[in-house]
Amino acid sequence: MTANQVASEVFSRATSDEVTLDPQDWDALRALGHRMVDDMFGMLETVGERPVWEPLPEEVAAHLTQAAPHEGEGVERAYADFLTDIYPYPLGNINPRFWGWVMGTGTPLGMLSSMLAAGMNFNVRGGNTAASLVETQVLGWLKELLGYPAEASGLLVSGGSVANLTGLTVARNQGAEIDLRQHGVGAAPRPMTLYASAETHSSVQRAVEVLGLGSESLRLIPCTADFEIDITALRQAITEDRASGTHPFCVVGNAGTTNTGAIDDLNALADLCEREGLWLHVDGTFGALAHLVPSLRPRLAGMERADSLTFDMHKWLSLPYGVGCVLVRDAAAHRAAFAMTPPYLALGSRGPMSGPHWFMDRGIELSRPFRALSVWLSLKAYGAAAFAGVIEQNVSQARYLADLIAAAPELELLAPTGLNVVCFRFVTGDHDEAALDAINQELLLRLQEGGVVLPSNAAVGGRSGIRAAITNHRSRGEDFDLLVAEVQRVGSEVAAEDAIGNVAR
Ligand SMILES: *Cc1c(COP(=O)(O)O)cnc(C)c1O
Repeated sequence: MTANQVASEVFSRATSDEVTLDPQDWDALRALGHRMVDDMFGMLETVGERPVWEPLPEEVAAHLTQAAPHEGEGVERAYADFLTDIYPYPLGNINPRFWGWVMGTGTPLGMLSSMLAAGMNFNVRGGNTAASLVETQVLGWLKELLGYPAEASGLLVSGGSVANLTGLTVARNQGAEIDLRQHGVGAAPRPMTLYASAETHSSVQRAVEVLGLGSESLRLIPCTADFEIDITALRQAITEDRASGTHPFCVVGNAGTTNTGAIDDLNALADLCEREGLWLHVDGTFGALAHLVPSLRPRLAGMERADSLTFDMHKWLSLPYGVGCVLVRDAAAHRAAFAMTPPYLALGSRGPMSGPHWFMDRGIELSRPFRALSVWLSLKAYGAAAFAGVIEQNVSQARYLADLIAAAPELELLAPTGLNVVCFRFVTGDHDEAALDAINQELLLRLQEGGVVLPSNAAVGGRSGIRAAITNHRSRGEDFDLLVAEVQRVGSEVAAEDAIGNVAR
């Protein structure tokens, strides 16, 4: 008998009152599944007609504080609860007029790929499975598309924060003057220091803290007027630290800062790191993907020289949360930071534990979801060119928005718009700086609560303003006309109220 025959024989014999979580009525659950697909397509197809964000009504919020269900209410009723308590209240990032923080929009195909990945339910720790080959293939595609060396190692992770933590772990262990895995940071003969611009994302500091180095070891270097790291100040800080007995080991460069989209001079950083024997980690969480667009590529020159590089697919590649990536040039160094093989995970030369694809040895996760599938399916279906088209469009939309702002007398740009982030504020001739800060803060909250457009806050050069980070494939030119009109309308309202003292300071 073949394995197939054995399996179908035992399957047909099973009668059993033993419990399972499979449905008793497969057809009923299948029909519900079809309705779920229809409901989500219904939402996504018309999402632009809805308010961007709405507060959760109190009675709905109360449902979401109920105690743990010991007895089930049934699949139909549980889904009905989803439809009343969750479905009507998206965060807004699926809406064409959302540009808050830096978030991805998602795609209908990405949604379906999440279902397929959950259905297959691979545990992608590695080994001899299709999912392992898919992740390896996707990492290969990403290296090729970003111009990163093919022999580099990599790993898909939950997002930029974990990608930065993973890359910086390798940097720390490689830079240490001791066997850091064995002895720990406390045994380092000199304090280890690393360097990044003051505009660097907070996840880098969090990684440094988690790595046991302490936030003081992260030297924040001042920026130029364009919010790029000041290379002269960086060089000076390294020299001074060396002279005072610390051990510089790493520089973190930015390929697209969260605040303004600034890109550090990555070739200058790579030159400096080469000369000084330092690890170059580049945080390209959203900006690295601008490399897909030929006209933007020169701005990222030097990124391919990074020892480690991080970027997210759930931001500017529009895939569903959460999928990010870390690439590490030196594959052996990557493995050396994490590899560990207890007897119960012994590798084999045959069977499911065989093969070269071991993701559990490249990061902190053992059990891992099938993150690669949404990337694989989406790149195969649409091609890298489609994603490049979205990125290019977002960058020209940012330029369009910046031009509208520059032309509006009540509006003022707060930072240069080099990539896809536009920072600006509402100004009047009648208010001092403190009043303008208060007006812009109130204006932003009214915009966000109003549900027509959703930017987030700019905090640039000590001034409060409004920031649109455009990573949205659904936005159209008209949406930015509306943003400017709304800022002017609501801003004039707030400024008039402020004149009579209504805005709390
Ligand atoms: C968003 C962001 C991060 C953090 O990424 P997550 O996916 O949110 O963990 C890190 N760096 C930059 C520049 C970012 O914009």
